[in-house]
Amino acid sequence: MAGEPQADCLFCKIVSGEVPATVVRETPTTLAFRDINPQAPTHVLVIPKVHYPDAATLAGAEPGVAADLLREAAEVAAMDKIDASGFRIVFNTGAGAGQTVFHTHAHVLGGRGLQWPPG
Ligand code: 5GP
Ligand code: ZN
Repeated sequence: MAGEPQADCLFCKIVSGEVPATVVRETPTTLAFRDINPQAPTHVLVIPKVHYPDAATLAGAEPGVAADLLREAAEVAAMDKIDASGFRIVFNTGAGAGQTVFHTHAHVLGGRGLQWPPG
């Protein structure tokens, strides 16, 4: 069924606790944890507990959970005190854009100067 856990998905395993992560926030629908290979002083991944391959697919299927994800991204920024200085929410979508884990995740990046346009 759509949204069900996938046996071969790393982030489903983090949701279930099978793979450990440094969790910083949890809600009934989302989980936020620190990226294992941080690209900025704050680099947190916010994911839905349900499995969809990317942000657009999640938004089409469960728009309420997509909204939860964005709200949580902002809460992470406030928690790490990067909300005033500015932060970036990134959804890499597709292998050509650098997506490597095909379970929706928002990168929340901040705590340093951020270039525009991104690479
Ligand atoms: P993507 O490249 O799909 O946009 O982002 C995947 C992110 O997941 C990368 O930034 C990568 O560092 C992170 N990542 C990959 N494996 C793990 C892991 O086992 N634990 C954590 N916390 N992050 C991971
Ligand atoms: Zn998954």
